[in-house]
Amino acid sequence: MTYRPNLVRRTPFPDSVSRAVVTPLQPSVVYSSPDPDALDDQYEGRAKGYTYGREGHPNADVLAQMIDRLEGGEGGIVTGSGMSAVTATLLGLLSAGDHIVGGNQLYGRSLRMLTRDLPRWGITATLADPTDVAAMEAAITPDTRLLLVEVVSNPTLRIADMAGIERLARERGLILVVDNTFTTPYGYPAFVKGADVVIHSVTKLLAGHSDVTLGYILARDPAQRTAIYDTFVTLGLTPSPWDCWMAERGLYSFDMRFERAQTNAAALAEAVADHPAIAAVIYPGRADHPDHARARTLLGGQFGNMLSFRLHGGREAANALTRAAPQIAFAPTLGDIGTTLSHPASSSHRGLTEEGRAELGITEGFFRVSVGCEPIDLLRSDIIRALDAVAKG
Ligand SMILES: *Cc1c(COP(=O)(O)O)cnc(C)c1O
Repeated sequence: MTYRPNLVRRTPFPDSVSRAVVTPLQPSVVYSSPDPDALDDQYEGRAKGYTYGREGHPNADVLAQMIDRLEGGEGGIVTGSGMSAVTATLLGLLSAGDHIVGGNQLYGRSLRMLTRDLPRWGITATLADPTDVAAMEAAITPDTRLLLVEVVSNPTLRIADMAGIERLARERGLILVVDNTFTTPYGYPAFVKGADVVIHSVTKLLAGHSDVTLGYILARDPAQRTAIYDTFVTLGLTPSPWDCWMAERGLYSFDMRFERAQTNAAALAEAVADHPAIAAVIYPGRADHPDHARARTLLGGQFGNMLSFRLHGGREAANALTRAAPQIAFAPTLGDIGTTLSHPASSSHRGLTEEGRAELGITEGFFRVSVGCEPIDLLRSDIIRALDAVAKG
């Protein structure tokens, strides 16, 4: 027989006295320990070490620590998607018989979870307007355990009464969970302000390049953190090491991207406000926004990178706009480095009836813009050119 080396045996990673500058990518799912005693030490917390990828891995921990620093906490958990962060939090903290009060304009899948999935497991929810703390309070029942809110609603960009909601949660002994995806800790430091649990879809602004799907959970109370973590491990909501590595890379420029995108959004809101194709601009930085005063005190001196507008006309005007702006991705997401346009009537809010959408002010001519980091002159001229095409008909 010809000579065959043992290719199954792994080749040791080369030693180096100098260290890599970049975080190594560690895709290993399993970790080998010297002996069962050492494994005992790890599981009992006497020694630090990884065991199995679903329970945690170094690339997730590096990313978690970076987002921890942004939110001002520690012990964050990175999960495989924003929705898995919502799922682990709610299923970890609630039991059959419990009740939630949720914002009435939460992210679409979160709304579905509250109204259609959780009830199958005996957990009920009431939706209420988070811009009106009295409405939130009126929705509380003796079984209510938790409040779930987003600071800025999608796509109408209403600003929740966070100070009122934080006070309400404290007074009534409820767990306050804030999905801080839209605002990010720079727009609103939800954890520092007193939320018990903060959730992110890292997929959006934090990772920032539309190439990973990830979530994040930060819990203040150690018992709550453990309950959420155990649910996360049991349900297998593990993030991929590669995605964590990519998101870490994206996060290094988050500060600059968010700053630039917010400045661009403010400039764009001004530029389109008086355009003849536009019936209304919705932007928290404008004096005509219903929550402008609250946005000024809440949003860290800027007003976010999201802006919405309503075109005169219906679906035809909407089709004309996206066709006339091929440089701007027409895509149902947000937080990308580039500007994206979304059309709630045909995407996020298509499950609602026309009347349901009308109640929220979402017409066929309604667009949400996630403003990106393009040079503002180019972005402005692309959008104005598209609006001109809509106005011409
Ligand atoms: C996108 C989004 C989610 C869900 O995140 P995924 O990463 O897509 O699972 C949750 N909440 C908000 C506010 C979002 O925008």
